[in-house]
Amino acid sequence: FIDGIDTIGKSRDGGRFGGGNDEREQTLNQLLAELDGFDPGKGIIVLGATNRPEVLDKALLRPGRFDRRITVDRPNLAGRLATLQVHTRSIHLAEDVNLEKIAQATAGCVGADLANLVNEAALRAVRLGRSAVNQNDLLAAFETVIAGSEKKGTVITDEEKRIIAYHEVGHALVAAKQKNAQPVSKITIVPHTQGALGYTLHLPEEEKFLNTKAELHAMLVGFLAGRAAEELVFDTVTTGAGRSSEEVVCHTMTSGAANDIERATEMARNLVARFGMCEEFDMMALGSVQNQYLDGTYSMSCAQETYAAADRAVIAIIRQCHEVARRMLEENRELLDKIAAYLLKKETITGQEMMAIIEGRDPETVDNYGATREEKQPLFRPSSPEVIEAPAKHIHIVSEPVPSPEEQTPEEQTPEEAQPDRDPEENEHK
Ligand code: ZN
Repeated sequence: FIDGIDTIGKSRDGGRFGGGNDEREQTLNQLLAELDGFDPGKGIIVLGATNRPEVLDKALLRPGRFDRRITVDRPNLAGRLATLQVHTRSIHLAEDVNLEKIAQATAGCVGADLANLVNEAALRAVRLGRSAVNQNDLLAAFETVIAGSEKKGTVITDEEKRIIAYHEVGHALVAAKQKNAQPVSKITIVPHTQGALGYTLHLPEEEKFLNTKAELHAMLVGFLAGRAAEELVFDTVTTGAGRSSEEVVCHTMTSGAANDIERATEMARNLVARFGMCEEFDMMALGSVQNQYLDGTYSMSCAQETYAAADRAVIAIIRQCHEVARRMLEENRELLDKIAAYLLKKETITGQEMMAIIEGRDPETVDNYGATREEKQPLFRPSSPEVIEAPAKHIHIVSEPVPSPEEQTPEEQTPEEAQPDRDPEENEHK
């Protein structure tokens, strides 16, 4: 088994993938010769693995050498469930664990992500002093893997907190009000280590391989709804409230939406350039995907004018979706305020609580499946001095100096220490 076969099997066509390399080419030639030497009757199978099949030398892929290709793609629901079962085999699971739900939530994760998730869950269980991993540990670990852990020390002003709350509720409310959007499972305004000041977590109900244009539009509207909510709520603050208009402007356009904007733009660009969902370009692909198994970057390969026209089409889509998001929030302004107030009070709420507010029920009474906050136990052990455990009793520190053997005079020697020196002599005399 040769892992990373692309390091020695890179195409000898030096011009395309960086200059030629004599040593590597010799290794490749040797490998090709050796592969030909295998007797087909001996039952030896040679395997190679790579993330970049497109750079491999063509000669390496001819029949008789590496002639079969098996793509190990991101696992589907059944695959993720089986992977989770493998990784949880060696840890104690509580009875409430439902791996199927976790597999459902982790669409798009690869095997290594799932292994990491199980490990995080086990660490959390240990930190909370339990001997078995429960469902909440797994759900919390899932969030740790995608969003990082909660940042305890971040100081956020009340005004910023209000903006973040409205931003996140904007995302969540628009998702709840649209037919084609994924349900919201959690909204939080607790800052996380991967840079997010708050986030809205969507859990798909079923795995999807095809997305309709309407669903993609719904996602786009959802991405833009955070900023739309900020605009809607904080634009109405006038100078009469004791602030200058410049201040209001910089408050309403916060930098927190940068990631939303990036994702929305990427999606709109995909609609236009890859999925053929734009009138103007019909079914013309404007570029191609590079490094399919690594980052999957999309590079445009069209004329300058087409490129510019595609950008205009992207802007038109984003503008339209932004407008839809804003209108939707304007129509539901009362709910927006209600949910934001509830979120500000609780800091983390579940999708069920939000749905309860939307449907006019009391959010405190809903059954909170997937709420990762355990009511009585804090996430981490508190570190305030009054609750720090007393140090273990049987450890004591020796503070008397221990003299080195050279400084010891014969008088100071205890009988036990002196005994071994004297004994051999006595034995000789005897
Ligand atoms: Zn956002």
